[in-house]
Amino acid sequence: MKKKSLINLSYGKEHLAIPGPSNIPQRVLQAMNQPSPNIYGEKIVEITHKVMKGIKNFANTSGSVLIYISNGHGVWEATLVNLFNEGDKILLCCNGHFGHQWGKIARRLKLNIEFLDVGFSKAIDPNKIESILKKDKMHEIKGVLTTYTDTSSSSKNNIKTFKQAINSAKHNALLIVDAIASFGCERIEMDPWGIDVLITASQKGLMTPPGLGYCIINKKVKKNTLSKIYKKSISPYWGWYSRLKPKKFYEIFAGTPPTSLLIGQLEAINMLEEEGRDNVFLRHKILSGMVWSCIEHLGSKGNSLKLNIQNESQRSNAVTTVFSKGFDFTKTREWISKQGGVELGVGLGFTSSELLGGKSVFRIGHMGHLNPHMILGVLSILEAGLSFNKIPHQSGGVTVANNYMLKMIKK
Ligand SMILES: *Cc1c(COP(=O)(O)O)cnc(C)c1O
Repeated sequence: MKKKSLINLSYGKEHLAIPGPSNIPQRVLQAMNQPSPNIYGEKIVEITHKVMKGIKNFANTSGSVLIYISNGHGVWEATLVNLFNEGDKILLCCNGHFGHQWGKIARRLKLNIEFLDVGFSKAIDPNKIESILKKDKMHEIKGVLTTYTDTSSSSKNNIKTFKQAINSAKHNALLIVDAIASFGCERIEMDPWGIDVLITASQKGLMTPPGLGYCIINKKVKKNTLSKIYKKSISPYWGWYSRLKPKKFYEIFAGTPPTSLLIGQLEAINMLEEEGRDNVFLRHKILSGMVWSCIEHLGSKGNSLKLNIQNESQRSNAVTTVFSKGFDFTKTREWISKQGGVELGVGLGFTSSELLGGKSVFRIGHMGHLNPHMILGVLSILEAGLSFNKIPHQSGGVTVANNYMLKMIKK
């Protein structure tokens, strides 16, 4: 048998540039590498409360944090079952795949969904929310649900204007925001922006393995949860009441606490706090700008690469979706993984034939534990992948990214 020898250069530290799970810092891994503390002891109680406080501070709210042993889907569902009853009407804003996925859960729970769907190329227009709510004279719509960043399209909504739209319509619907992709990357100001419920999870900007889901509720929602005759229909596991008012510590988790994940999460929170919230947001902004300037340059010849979101103010600082109309990107992505040790994200939810059913789409995750040399490595191997696979492009994208960074630092 003839042995085919193919040089493989990917030995070394692998880099995940998919939009979550993100790269886990060594500090987090090391913190987790210890025996589980006694779940009946003081230490785990202290760690849990520190994690709750850290998440709360990062969200900028005076409300409360509920922690689930779950991924994002778990907290999507937890939020729906705690706030709504079968038949309740909600307005679901969709600017990509994830809004629709949330909608599938809502439909299974027999909620009555009105969709505000703007497709995959832009953010939601708050004026549309206002006009829908104005027409709802009887205030049947109980909640306005939206993603902050939709991770498939990489479009970002201006959440502050959503609350303004609800207020202008003189409506009392709750504002519920899925910030799973962008929490810990992109500025979020829960109380100042009027968010009632904020949802996130551990594995993206929070730099910890998947397994912790968070519902962050403001004071008003907490008060309602505690004062309403407790909805009997909520399953004991998902219900907020006993998690908010535990008689015993274990009720916070409805069972054994996720010890190692909490320890890891606390270390990640410590890292975010050491860096400082504003600096975390600024770093992600600069790293995103490096990605965008590079892609725009690469696509300036042959018109092969394009940023999915044209309007810069609607672009996410956590993930960037790129497409190359008519080019199948599968092989290039595989080459980049095999030779470069970098995993790029696949296109999610794109179905059009000009984008080859999503094969012409890829995503670059730039969330969490990331600095210029890491993102430059991603961009550099991307450019090599384009060359190797003969996808037309303007070379020199990395230099453009570097220049962007230098310009931003000088400011
Ligand atoms: C990743 C993600 C989810 C889903 O989270 P899972 O942990 O995969 O369940 C939901 N919404 C957004 C915006 C996301 O980025």
